[in-house]
Amino acid sequence: MVYKDFQDEKDRSEKRENIMKLGTQYYRPPFPEQKYWEEDFTRIKDSGLNTVQLWVVWAWVESKPGVFNFDDYDHLVELADRKGLGVILSTIAEIQPYWISRVVPESELVDYLGRKVISTNRDECNFGLTPGGCTDHPGVWDRMKSFLTEVVTHYRSAPNLLGWDAWNELRWNVQADGLVCFCPHTLAAFRNWLNRKYGRLDGLNEAWKRRYGCWEEVMPGKLPGRPYTEMMAFQHFLTWRVNQHGKNRYDVMKSLDPGHPITVHACYPSSHAGGDSQNHAINRGNDWFFADDLDGVGCSSFPKWWGQDDIGFSIRVDSIKSAAGNKLIWLSEVQGGRSSIGFDTFKAVDAPSQQRWIWNGIACGADAILFWCWRDEIFGKESSGFGIIGNDGLAPERLAAMKVTGRLIEEYKDIISAYRPEKPEVGVMFSPQSYYLYWAQEGSAGRSMQAFQGYTRSLVRKSIPYSVIEEEHLGALSGLKILFLPRTIVTDSAIEKALENFVKEGGTLVCESECGAFSSQGFYRYPKDRFLSRLSGIHEIGRRGLSDDCITVKIGDKELNLSATQWLTPYCKGDGEVLSEGEDGPLMVEVPVGKGKLVLCGAYLGDAYLHNRTADFENFVELTVRRAGWRPEIELVSPLPGMDSFVYIKSGQSGDKRVTFVFFPPDLDTAHLRFNGNFFSGSHATDIISGKKINLEKRGSGQECTLTAPDWRFCVLVG
Ligand SMILES: [Zn+2]
Repeated sequence: MVYKDFQDEKDRSEKRENIMKLGTQYYRPPFPEQKYWEEDFTRIKDSGLNTVQLWVVWAWVESKPGVFNFDDYDHLVELADRKGLGVILSTIAEIQPYWISRVVPESELVDYLGRKVISTNRDECNFGLTPGGCTDHPGVWDRMKSFLTEVVTHYRSAPNLLGWDAWNELRWNVQADGLVCFCPHTLAAFRNWLNRKYGRLDGLNEAWKRRYGCWEEVMPGKLPGRPYTEMMAFQHFLTWRVNQHGKNRYDVMKSLDPGHPITVHACYPSSHAGGDSQNHAINRGNDWFFADDLDGVGCSSFPKWWGQDDIGFSIRVDSIKSAAGNKLIWLSEVQGGRSSIGFDTFKAVDAPSQQRWIWNGIACGADAILFWCWRDEIFGKESSGFGIIGNDGLAPERLAAMKVTGRLIEEYKDIISAYRPEKPEVGVMFSPQSYYLYWAQEGSAGRSMQAFQGYTRSLVRKSIPYSVIEEEHLGALSGLKILFLPRTIVTDSAIEKALENFVKEGGTLVCESECGAFSSQGFYRYPKDRFLSRLSGIHEIGRRGLSDDCITVKIGDKELNLSATQWLTPYCKGDGEVLSEGEDGPLMVEVPVGKGKLVLCGAYLGDAYLHNRTADFENFVELTVRRAGWRPEIELVSPLPGMDSFVYIKSGQSGDKRVTFVFFPPDLDTAHLRFNGNFFSGSHATDIISGKKINLEKRGSGQECTLTAPDWRFCVLVG
């Protein structure tokens, strides 16, 4: 099929693009079978969805070298157009043709023991090799490039094409069955990367304090628990390499189709990529660098499967949003129906939960929400799971609710498309180098990930908007009043300089134990040699055992007991106000620096909170944020958060209108809110979900209202 650029088709396509994409994954060849397509697309349209996503699988399309078969996709794209549905094409170049190693010999990945990786069908895909040939082999990339070229050329003029998801979940080493890649091409790329980073071998030897005689002697780290230096470097390289591969795919596609957005999405945000025995930390790229290079980023979310609550869901999207900046945010896989993995049964997906994900996603700034998937899967371990219309017993209620949201998205398309979440004044540091070091030691960066999640979770519970600040994108510090540094044990001079400037210009830094204790080469620094000691004049005196599981902090007239994990690192006596005293010295000290201040904590509180959630830690976070000068735009007057339930609030701006999302927990039916100044422009706001007018009472300098939980237990106030 050849598409022509008819003007009316262009107009139709532009019209679709103004509406938020609410859609579903449909086709992973060869399922669903063709007999279902016509009726399914009619139902998809009727259910309020406006988009379908199709997996264009390399192995399937080019099953014989150089012969491309798009018959099924042509049919589906045309059918979608006929039904009034837009299409997002997901280019699955990582499921490679069976001929790849025949046509490109010696292209296999090589694992950490030097074994060639045998590729097989992927557990949830019927046809094609994973992990396939290594994309560092130029022959593999040439072939992949020609596949991408064929697909984009074939579909770029399709009238209902809305965009491309260029890499699904950023998979490249799936089923490698060991740490990869040690093939000659990847080793050469690693050494070239080091060469550029350090300026030849002499530079590397100086930085790493080694005496290598030639590049061939420089090898990646092999397993965790060995020297940090080469393992951290290799992980950093792998992150970069995935970003580079994403950019390479993007460049090929964008050069052929500049008019449509091209994004990628990971299974999880990079702040959640702690790694495991098969995966180095952050080995699916860094969202911030994808956002630098591509039109957008995204992530998958399966809340019922993964046991995520409102906060767990929002932290993921907030992290993506922080990376995306003004680029697109595509939630490219949100759970459609009950998950099924093997013969385990997970929770069914009820309509109110699913609607909550959609509107929570919108509240966090998502531009597209695509469900996985329409029908229950029929292949392998995912069979019988995930379908919106699937057989978990709740499909009718899901479809009925989706129809309502589809109508609302159409009706309020201008407000939704112009909506931007409130610009935060609070930051939480994401330090990939710290993740690399934890993984290099423990084979998991779980501790840093949990520390990050502890702080972000408590901020969400206090309805305090925050940004995630990535260590190589510190321009984002501008406009912040305070930055938390959960387990940021690795810093280098560029980061230290930016943090120093931030504090001297009035910011507050909240640092945990051994902040900056290691260089990005993985070398330990004595306490007096660390940048915080230079700034504050005081230093930690070394690791001490944790006799109690908590430390007592006094801030003003408040006394808080904060859970701690792992160890304590007390401070020496010196300048600053001691907020917590321990047996061997102060455990929390506030030190003024320039116009700002440091809050130095010789304990790990973030991951401790995640394991043992206490109101005291949340109050500590709120108190610290307020002492840094942050003031809420919206306050929940009542009910105050209980440990098991709280009213979750998100807010932002759409043109000259304010938009506030209020999500009720199951056990609370009313909430009393106070808004600062003339937050909403008039004397009432409209809840666009229920259509009800909400009266705003003028009280003092602000506006107040009492909300009652509607059927779906959330409302979206616009005014
Ligand atoms: Zn390789």
